[in-house]
Amino acid sequence: MIESGRGNPTRRSRLIVLAGPTAVGKGTVAADVRRTHPEVWLSVSATTRPPRPGEENGVHYWFVSDEEFDAMIAKGDLLEWAVVHKAARYGTPRGPVDLALASGHPAMLEIDLQGARQVRETMPDALFVFLKPPSWEELVRRLVGRGTESEAERERRLETARAELAAESEFDVTIVNHEVHAAAEQLVSLMVGSNSSSSD
Ligand code: 5GP
Repeated sequence: MIESGRGNPTRRSRLIVLAGPTAVGKGTVAADVRRTHPEVWLSVSATTRPPRPGEENGVHYWFVSDEEFDAMIAKGDLLEWAVVHKAARYGTPRGPVDLALASGHPAMLEIDLQGARQVRETMPDALFVFLKPPSWEELVRRLVGRGTESEAERERRLETARAELAAESEFDVTIVNHEVHAAAEQLVSLMVGSNSSSSD
């Protein structure tokens, strides 16, 4: 939801797209921004996955059926969408993003790499931020840390992570996720810094 009085309706703001490898902590960084910077508008994605305990419809995601997701695609309601982890579909509703930008709010999407590439095609003026782990070892620890996966599954995840890390060069800015709140603050400072050059 967009709170009134905080944006700058005279200037369209610039969209920030936060992406990065699986398990780097994008969701946690976005949650920190949501908690500490209510002036930042965060897109609420639609997803076909079921809610986890504590997740609320319209707050964390719009939880929709496969049929509803199909209808959103058919109507052109999604700015981008992707199948993530070969499991469920996730997409960004287009209308709320347009509204947030038009009202001058700092606005952010937290999406996967496939989605970020699609937004790059349709909104090349957005600022693309890559969230990176402090080291390869740390990412491996987060990905396979629990040690509950089979050897084959571990290898598959590591291979995906290698390919995802290689996408860094496609992005405008990299933030290293040493510590969640510090990363969130860097992200917010980019929003403030980028809004003034957004109207062209
Ligand atoms: P989770 O199911 O753990 O909440 O999210 C899984 C993944 O889906 C995360 O990598 C997150 O960035 C990605 N994701 C969430 N919303 C969207 C979206 O609207 N579009 C795309 N492409 N990915 C999303």
